[in-house]
Amino acid sequence: MKPVESKTILSVNKHPSSWFGVKYSLNLYRGCELQCIYCDSRSERYGIDDFHNVTVKTNALQLLDKELAAKRKRATVGTASMSDPYTHTERKLHLTRSALELIARHRFPVHITTKSNLILRDVDVLEELNRVYASVAFTITTADDELAARIEPYAPSPTDRFKALGVLSALGITTSITMMPILPFLEDDPANVRAIVDKAAAYGVRHIVAAFGMTLRDRQRDYYFRKLDELFPGTREKYERRFGEAYQARANQYAKLAAAFHEACRRHGISTAMPSYESVNAAVQLRLFD
Ligand code: SF4
Repeated sequence: MKPVESKTILSVNKHPSSWFGVKYSLNLYRGCELQCIYCDSRSERYGIDDFHNVTVKTNALQLLDKELAAKRKRATVGTASMSDPYTHTERKLHLTRSALELIARHRFPVHITTKSNLILRDVDVLEELNRVYASVAFTITTADDELAARIEPYAPSPTDRFKALGVLSALGITTSITMMPILPFLEDDPANVRAIVDKAAAYGVRHIVAAFGMTLRDRQRDYYFRKLDELFPGTREKYERRFGEAYQARANQYAKLAAAFHEACRRHGISTAMPSYESVNAAVQLRLFD
């Protein structure tokens, strides 16, 4: 773990509707110990050289308190993409927890994307946040725990993520699944997509957003291909033949995956749109005046 001082802690998102209504992105950590083999944050554009060694912003809480107090408009604060907010270092530091407590004190809506059931440690703060609005999305790319243990080696299993979603859904927190990436040749099977949607429904999840495929660029691609050679011999060659140097690697059977996804979501009454503070509030208002 590397401590650093930072000048700012919230960055403004110009297009909140593109990601769960998040207007202010919160970067507490850089680098991530969950070590998913496909992680896009390894690519050069993020400038994180030593990705598994987490950098911690030591003055994060003072900055957050000051920046939230200075905001004129209350809009959703969301966790950013350069780390999981519940990376292993969080077990010791409680930085995400302390940030959530501050957000609750300032009465801002919040959205968290994670792969870790460590979030259940903070259920009391999430309930407090949910007096305004709390939304949690778990990323689940496969329903198969054994496959997940290879591609997301230090993240809790999908089974544990579904269980955590069940706990949060039962508390009335807005829960979602981000089903992305879906890795070509490894996860792009309609049965996998159906299994994720079916389990989501069983655990009370009301929203799933999906992207069938992945990105591949510079350092991210190099790392991913090395891991494919180690874990799935022969698969890198399939990528090279199909995608060449392309940045977007679309899943095989794209139309079948999309059809399976939409059919399963329809069957369970699950929305395929991202929820946001604004959309959830608008739905509540409509019900009140119904
Ligand atoms: S949890 Fe997210 S940030 Fe962490 S390694 Fe996996 S994809 Fe990257």
